Amino acid sequence: MKDITIEEKPHRPDGPKNRAVFLDRDGVITDNSEHYYLTRPEDLALNPGVIETLKELQERGYLLIMITNQGGIATGSNTVENVEEVHRHLLGLLRREGITLEEIYYCPHHQDVEACLCRKPFPLMLEKGLARFRIDAERSYFIGDSDRDMEAGESAGVQPVRVDANGDLRNVLQRIP
Ligand SMILES: [Mg+2]
Ligand SMILES: [Zn+2]
Repeated sequence: MKDITIEEKPHRPDGPKNRAVFLDRDGVITDNSEHYYLTRPEDLALNPGVIETLKELQERGYLLIMITNQGGIATGSNTVENVEEVHRHLLGLLRREGITLEEIYYCPHHQDVEACLCRKPFPLMLEKGLARFRIDAERSYFIGDSDRDMEAGESAGVQPVRVDANGDLRNVLQRIP
């Protein structure tokens, strides 16, 4: 017998909506100063304060969803298998700390190779998360370190929160109620 997954559960159309914090990966969750394209799980390093911040946001009632451009797949600097292996490693690291990333959306395209509708600054990956997890955009946030992230957040109707690349993530905690 097949397990019932989240998507198959009937939802109450008038039920309360969730709040979420969407997070960029490179420069926000992971340190990208040494490796611009993460091809191996052993090269993954979390930025300072990531564990504490994600735990705290989770305790404040936010779903956590990661949204990342991985154009290196299209340009040949990386592969789908590598990206997914790095993501499994990241999910495991966080799970051991009691942190659940509800979903990871990544765009494997790059405009130099093929156009797409998902690469940030397009908001499509955010919109997928909003719809799938019944999220109230106005009470949700997108933490990013680039203009592309800010633009994607604004287009999706969530509040963009800009951080310095590879800084201490705890700085966002006063900016997200
Ligand atoms: Mg980034
Ligand atoms: Zn794409």
